[in-house]
Amino acid sequence: MAKLKEALFWKKLKTKGKDKVVQCVLCPHFCTLKNNETGKCRVRKNIKGKLYSLSYEQPVSIAIDPIEKKPLYHFMPRTCTFSIGMAGCNLKCLNCQNWQLSQCSAEELKVNPVKAKEIVIMALKSECPSISYTYSEPFVSWEYVFDIAKLAKKDNLKNIMVTNGFINPEPLKKILPYIDAFNIDLKSIKDKFYKEVCGARIQPILEAIKIVHKSRKHLELTNLIIPGLNDSDSDIKELVKWIKENLGENVPLHFSAFYPCYKLTNIGATPPEKVIHAAEIARKMGMKNVHTGNI
Ligand code: SF4
Repeated sequence: MAKLKEALFWKKLKTKGKDKVVQCVLCPHFCTLKNNETGKCRVRKNIKGKLYSLSYEQPVSIAIDPIEKKPLYHFMPRTCTFSIGMAGCNLKCLNCQNWQLSQCSAEELKVNPVKAKEIVIMALKSECPSISYTYSEPFVSWEYVFDIAKLAKKDNLKNIMVTNGFINPEPLKKILPYIDAFNIDLKSIKDKFYKEVCGARIQPILEAIKIVHKSRKHLELTNLIIPGLNDSDSDIKELVKWIKENLGENVPLHFSAFYPCYKLTNIGATPPEKVIHAAEIARKMGMKNVHTGNI
């Protein structure tokens, strides 16, 4: 069992009574937590008036993947990437493909602790030139990712974040110097979609994407197309318009097919022609690097 790590990005709230209430300010949920309560992400917990990270040194999945699987097509192509994932996520996507990891706490999964330094040694031994923080939402394990990324950088490994982008500006900016590339999900351009399907909001994600873009770190975006929920021509056009206006036409954009899973098993898989059609719309609108995936 790893020693509990006190989290960063939280504050004590002044409340009446004995309850030592804290507020986590890592992500835009701003969870207010009484003693023994865990945040929406399931991996940050108030213990006696302090916030702790439950996923620190607790990787639940380690694998070596082609970098194209993240997907990143324009960053170190044809290399492998040492990939790790921790439990927990701050979104509740009905269609989550990794719900066994993301909708679960580190306590439930009971894994063997692995120190940040050991992750870097394993990555070096694997001869992958990069480490990817992926599979569930890496930002909710901010402290562990930060410690690994800092050490990895010293050993000339690149760091890659595969994220939903639901993160506050301060923690994002603090980790940016250590991250080399991002794939950020832009699941829809509609706030309604984020609220109903993911339990989140669009605006903080758009802000995070702009911060990453402004930092000149490598950025690619992924849009998973779900039939009937975000696949209309107007949905795609609105999404591409925002990308063009805010990030420019060179940002690589991946359209990906949905497969029924978790709580969205009543919707069929996305027909390949829908994904290809979305890519055609984006190209016609001037996007230069458009890719299709999962088809
Ligand atoms: S990171 Fe977790 S605990 Fe913190 S605000 Fe977000 S969901 Fe809540």
